[in-house]
Amino acid sequence: MKIILATQNQGKIRELQELLVDETIEVLSLRDLADWEDVEENGVTFADNAALKARVAAQKTGLIALADDSGLEVDALNGAPGVYSARYAGEPKDDERNNDKLLQQLESTSDDKRTARFRCALVVVTPEGEEFLTEGSVEGQILRQRRGTDGFGYDPLFYVPEYARTMAELTLTEKNKLSHRAQAFRKVIPILQTLRGNISS
Ligand code: IMP
Repeated sequence: MKIILATQNQGKIRELQELLVDETIEVLSLRDLADWEDVEENGVTFADNAALKARVAAQKTGLIALADDSGLEVDALNGAPGVYSARYAGEPKDDERNNDKLLQQLESTSDDKRTARFRCALVVVTPEGEEFLTEGSVEGQILRQRRGTDGFGYDPLFYVPEYARTMAELTLTEKNKLSHRAQAFRKVIPILQTLRGNISS
């Protein structure tokens, strides 16, 4: 069975492929499509945005399509940057400027109020229009300065108490075990297995 993951991000494709290692499921990506135009991510939630992308990919390809959307929610900022995580400090998207803005917004927030989480929503859409949603989240705290050099986005400011390190101080293997995205990807495997069963029966 072939499925398409609606992303250009090679890291996400690899992550899903690794989880599907024993399966007869081949993962295509937007890189395999000649005529993909970016979908405007104007949803209010991560699930809305993921569904927007997955629906277009399923329609365009006739394949089972998956799309994810993720971001950071900071409690002291009422859930911001949320769906605006990538462009928090405006266009063009820039991780450094986003982190600077986050630090500045939280300047007067005390340590015990700097709680936050990464969230990921993953939506599967079948060519018949059936939809499934899986989600993942990781709880943490926003530090006052960056720590670590791995990862991307808000990783250097996101401290994971369970590991006593920031996301940017974790190895890729450690991050892929606990991340919001990995959780959502893992939960999607049984859904794909069921869909494959339905197709081949
Ligand atoms: P996307 O859904 O993967 O495009 O992520 C949207 C934005 O959320 C990214 O540009 C980052 O700013 C932030 N983000 C999502 N996942 C992570 C993560 O694992 N680490 C750090 N930042 C993340």
